[in-house]
Amino acid sequence: MVKIDPWKNALKQLDDAAKILKIDPGVHDMLGTPKKILIVALPVKMDNGKIKVFTGYRSQHNDFRGPHKGGIRYHPDVTIEEVKALSMWMTWKCAIVDVPFGGGKGGIICDPKKLSAGEKERLTRRYAYAISEIIGPGKDIPAPDVYTTGTEMAQIMDVYSVMHGQGEPAVITGKPLSIGGSQARNVATGLGVAYCVREAARKIGMKHYENIVIQGFGNAGTFAAEYLEKMGGRIIAVSDSKGSIINPKGLDTKKVIEYKKKKGTVVGYPGSKKITTEQLLTTPCDVLIPAALENQITPEIAKKIKCKIIAEAANGPTTPEADDILFKRGIMVIPDILANSGGVCISYLEWVQNLQRYYWTFDEVAKKMEEHIVRGFNDTYNLAKKHKVDLRKGSMVLAVGRVLDSFNARGLWP
Ligand code: NAD
Repeated sequence: MVKIDPWKNALKQLDDAAKILKIDPGVHDMLGTPKKILIVALPVKMDNGKIKVFTGYRSQHNDFRGPHKGGIRYHPDVTIEEVKALSMWMTWKCAIVDVPFGGGKGGIICDPKKLSAGEKERLTRRYAYAISEIIGPGKDIPAPDVYTTGTEMAQIMDVYSVMHGQGEPAVITGKPLSIGGSQARNVATGLGVAYCVREAARKIGMKHYENIVIQGFGNAGTFAAEYLEKMGGRIIAVSDSKGSIINPKGLDTKKVIEYKKKKGTVVGYPGSKKITTEQLLTTPCDVLIPAALENQITPEIAKKIKCKIIAEAANGPTTPEADDILFKRGIMVIPDILANSGGVCISYLEWVQNLQRYYWTFDEVAKKMEEHIVRGFNDTYNLAKKHKVDLRKGSMVLAVGRVLDSFNARGLWP
């Protein structure tokens, strides 16, 4: 697979939006440059008594609309270019669903699978200490990302709180409920995908979205399936890393989840037939939800896809060339930056609850998230129609325009 440079890709997307919005070159340059990037050396005492030095990053792309927001990932392939790109995408993502945050992202170059729990905790706490000068409830609020969980978020909150002499839950989101986490956090992405699919179906006058295909049956895929089923949808095919299955009469999501828990895969689920990945992606259906890996919908697949709506739960599942083919074929693609924004919406709501020290029920949080996502979807849709572009470009025009509005209102000083 060709490795796409994420930073070049992010800049290209900004260029496309800048052309449509006719942005001044200097302002364009400013939006294409992260405000601050911190590189930190992280010495950690390993279990064998020796010291090993890791490298960590925190990129703060833009804060015109509010404090920086974005996850922290632990992965051997973390690069500064990737962290920069991800921080820029967070700026746009927050703007699309109109949460008052800018973009940020962090990462540590490490292989978390090769670290003991103690080593991981010491690494996490050292990183929290090293970036503590630039994070804070009004400055930059990190969250979980690849291979980080509520455990690491709790440790980061603890370090920051101890350093500042008071408990400060609003410094980070994705925390366990016991220390100020939010209801609905675990279902956020899947539920957000379901809301987007419902809105998209309404827009194209599709009364029924009965036949839904989902690639990837993890956190995002299973909750999207559960909520779409509750909204009257029928899941006919799903897949995981071990293979794909179909039953045109419909699969019972809860039972498939149970089966996967027991057997470690969806393959072999009673009443289903095994199919290939290509067959899964090109199954005639109403809605296709890629919820696994990037670059799954290639130009070859895009030519054969037989659905009306694609909702990108995964990040980057469609290649740029495939995008053009799908647009020409009239297939609506709900871009990742909008479709999987449920997580950042709930992060925002977690932060608000922490600041006010007052907590909402699951239904209250889900309702507030729905309002942000539905508005984000409609605003994107209307702009895409106005400029005669696909929803991906429409969402970028919306996001960049909103960030520009904030800049124009605030001005430049000093
Ligand atoms: P996960 O690890 O819970 O699930 C991933 C699923 O994909 C697993 O079922 C796995 O078996 C399956 N999979 C892996 N390789 C596959 C393959 N070749 N073919 C088919 N299935 C395959 O991960 P997740 O949290 O659900 O994330 C999935 C995607 O959604 C990622 O792109 C992620 O970046 C994106 N995303 C997730 C969230 C979130 O809150 N979970 C938020 C934003 C974006």
